[in-house]
Amino acid sequence: MKLGRLKHMENILDYTREELVQWLENKGSRSFRAGQIFKWLYLKQANSFEEMTDLGKELRSLLEENFYLTRLELEDKQVSSDTTEKFLFRLNDGHHIETVLIPEKDHFTLCVSTQVGCAMDCKFCLTARGGIKRNLTVAEIIAQVRDARFYLVQENIEPLKLSNIVFMGMGEPLANYDNLIKALSIIMDTDYGMKFAARKVTVSTSGVVPKIEQLGRDTDVNLAISLNATDDKTRSQLMPINNKYPIAALLEACARFTMKPRNKITFEYILIKGLNDSKQDALKLVKLLAPIRAKVNLIPFNEHEASPFRRPEPKQILAFLQILLDRDMTAMTRKSKGGDISAACGQLKAKLVTKK
Ligand code: SAH
Repeated sequence: MKLGRLKHMENILDYTREELVQWLENKGSRSFRAGQIFKWLYLKQANSFEEMTDLGKELRSLLEENFYLTRLELEDKQVSSDTTEKFLFRLNDGHHIETVLIPEKDHFTLCVSTQVGCAMDCKFCLTARGGIKRNLTVAEIIAQVRDARFYLVQENIEPLKLSNIVFMGMGEPLANYDNLIKALSIIMDTDYGMKFAARKVTVSTSGVVPKIEQLGRDTDVNLAISLNATDDKTRSQLMPINNKYPIAALLEACARFTMKPRNKITFEYILIKGLNDSKQDALKLVKLLAPIRAKVNLIPFNEHEASPFRRPEPKQILAFLQILLDRDMTAMTRKSKGGDISAACGQLKAKLVTKK
């Protein structure tokens, strides 16, 4: 397709179903067509409007004149020894993002990016090193999921096996709130969209407090908080956002977060050798989280080229975990997958950071 033509056209993946209904009505078309179009896009993996045979020729032409429908440009794909796959996508403006497809026992989880880079500047995270370039569009968020399922189809794997999504890729999801919410509406559209159950979708945040409450009101996704320390001094050193929203404010927002009776908020806690991995830290963590329906995900620090931090010894990690378990906390250590291809937590950088 010629670029000149693309310019005045819109990406159909940017449209929520509501917006598409509105668009169709403005064009004098019937609103139920939006559901049909969504099924082609998100369930039948259409590559063109031409394929959408039940729409009628006229509507198909109308769509073709106004929208484009493409896949993300896959620049590179790496496969880990544990079969985790990392996709490097090149966006239209030349920026890059990464998406990670993680095989679990009977399904797949996709780790999705929401920004090119990140502005949060967390000291342990490689994505932060490149700074923030821009927010991803709704289409760019959605296409990561749509295309991952498309790759499964090509490998003769049932696409709905990709049933879980974690917004734990590059970027701070709550800093791109409006696009996140629109993307979620497509992802969790169980009639015509991608059919992800709310309980299988998790949004992880560094702690953008005002948006946490809003997320609770606007959606019923799972919430994960990157806590990583038990006192403000340490947390502010690691995560500058803590200066703006300290631990107490963060936990208050969590306590107010609306969720289903049996749900829990996940607290991610990176274990960094000599920094936040002591017995006292574990005890403080138990105390801090006592008022909240919480579960703890310990993430042994994933080492990377831009950080002097180290991962604690396995013995230390186990001891930390045991303290939580002994005090009836729901807790586990996260098995970060894809470490050998830099696909584990905190290792995503796309082409933001160039190796020295
Ligand atoms: N900005 C969001 C989404 C990113 S999620 C957030 O902060 O939650 C990425 C997760 O990986 C976060 O829980 C973060 O604390 C963790 N992480 C970042 N760098 C890491 C590293 N080097 N090792 C282990 N975990 C890391």
